[in-house]
Amino acid sequence: MTPGAEEEARLSALARAATSLESHDVVLVTLDSLRADVAAAADLPTLSALGPMRRASTYGSFTLPAHAAIFGGFLPNVTEEPQWDFYSRERRQLWRLGRARKQAVPRAGLMLQGDDIVTGFRAAGYRTIGAGGVRWFSSGHFPKLFDSFRYWGPRDDGVDKFAEREVGDFALDHVDELVSELDQASRGFLFVNAAETHAPYTCGDDPADVDTQRIVRAWSSHWNGAAVVPDEPEALADMAALWDAQRAAAEAVDGKLARLFSALPRPALVVVCADHGEAFGEGGWWGHNQPMPEIMTVPLWIGVLPGRSAAA
Ligand SMILES: [Zn+2]
Repeated sequence: MTPGAEEEARLSALARAATSLESHDVVLVTLDSLRADVAAAADLPTLSALGPMRRASTYGSFTLPAHAAIFGGFLPNVTEEPQWDFYSRERRQLWRLGRARKQAVPRAGLMLQGDDIVTGFRAAGYRTIGAGGVRWFSSGHFPKLFDSFRYWGPRDDGVDKFAEREVGDFALDHVDELVSELDQASRGFLFVNAAETHAPYTCGDDPADVDTQRIVRAWSSHWNGAAVVPDEPEALADMAALWDAQRAAAEAVDGKLARLFSALPRPALVVVCADHGEAFGEGGWWGHNQPMPEIMTVPLWIGVLPGRSAAA
């Protein structure tokens, strides 16, 4: 197949799924804090097979508002051409809440009813399954939206936000459990917040994690704008090392997504995006929470997967 024909086939599968969402499972994965240029530089075969990465604008500079927008029916907006085949506010949308805008939106996909898309998917017959990895998902409003929700992440006591992390500490280390929940449903909406790409950018299985941990510790008093990262070679080298650690974390997540994607029980529409990006020293800032291009621009992938029975 020529690249043109391949892209055309991918787009028509996407268009079919977006207009018949009720015959697909829906999988939504947020790669926490993954900034767009890091994602573009990473080797992500699983995500690339889903479709080309698009640069998109998020509605939130940190986890809470970004996910509030996503659960409110607003995925990050694709800001680059061509926009027509992907989610953009004015053109094609995969789903939207009936209450979000009164006038007809002819190119919208599934119309969902309720105050948020999780409730909307449940009302449309989906079992809603969630898994979180950063503290916004350990308690509070988001987990309560789901029929079932699991949290694998740092303890909620706030004592050590950069505690060392090990294999098994992340939602995507538990693919079998998540898939078994999907297996028990006739149709599922699966949400996963993947924390590997969030500071401290370690997955617990890479020898380079030790170095990353050391740099994160050295700069922990500067996190999220608490102090200005100086425009000096040593500081910038450390920030560059953290940029690279996030790239390695994204590549590790891609491998975990390969396991999830090949185990999905049914055809699925899959959306993967970051909730927000990350600054690595730009403007003296390390972390997120600040509306700047490195933080407000995120990667977005949308695609359709056949499910394991079709793949077998
Ligand atoms: Zn986040």
